[in-house]
Amino acid sequence: MITIRGVHKEFSINGASVTALSPTDLDVSRGEFVSIIGPSGCGKSTLLRILAGLEKASGGAIAIEDGSSSRQRVGFVFQEPVLLPWLSALENVRFPLDTAGVSRAEADNRALQLLKLVGLSGFEAALPRALSGGMRQRVSIARALSYDPSLLLMDEPFGALDLITRDRLNDELLSIWAQTKKTILFVTHSVEEAAYLSDRVVVMTPRPGRIKSIYNVSLPRP
Ligand code: ADP
Ligand code: ADP
Repeated sequence: MITIRGVHKEFSINGASVTALSPTDLDVSRGEFVSIIGPSGCGKSTLLRILAGLEKASGGAIAIEDGSSSRQRVGFVFQEPVLLPWLSALENVRFPLDTAGVSRAEADNRALQLLKLVGLSGFEAALPRALSGGMRQRVSIARALSYDPSLLLMDEPFGALDLITRDRLNDELLSIWAQTKKTILFVTHSVEEAAYLSDRVVVMTPRPGRIKSIYNVSLPRP
């Protein structure tokens, strides 16, 4: 599904080259849930941003196979929900589809289904500021799924939430994952969260950023 070969990233800071990510190899299977953990600055976000096309790698090769279509579909969820404050929950979820030229009826229908998937039926008309942090992040997940991406990238999506909300969203995410069969790459600081959620845990280490080890997780899922 994802093949990463020798991908690396250097930034130039005041003329000096700083390595954010040393040459990295990683394969992720279709439908797999993989977590990436490691201290700040080990290159987790850089790797995700390169996969999302938000940042250009300095070198190496990435193949993301979609299977069904030639469109490369990647959904991204950030730590802070980046919702448009003047749009309702439904309009926020529909927004990527509107800009992609999907018909209004189809976009509405898909946004309704996605809000249902994330447990927000009844909150379609709510503005982001009227929703709790957990609910806003659920809207962000629904929006990331609006294009029906085969790959969902999540960069510490629950890191800003209280622990009770976080536990709840972890279970909801596992349920969404089981229902949608997405491939998920999930960045977190929490070993517990990584072990709870994933099939495999990739441990990264900083200075310079690289993969240190990869563990298979065999905990029973709820
Ligand atoms: P993590 O997500 O694991 O905290 P990052 O991928 O954000 O790590 O960063 C890896 C390294 O690259 C850090 O040393 C960071 O300072 C550096 N870095 C990231 N983005 C930039 C940038 N735009 N310019 C310069 N250095 C950067
Ligand atoms: P979470 O962030 O996980 O939703 P909260 O403790 O903030 O956790 O909310 C718990 C529940 O209370 C929500 O799932 C929702 O049903 C309800 N709720 C929270 N905020 C609102 C709101 N602004 N309007 C209506 N119901 C709300």
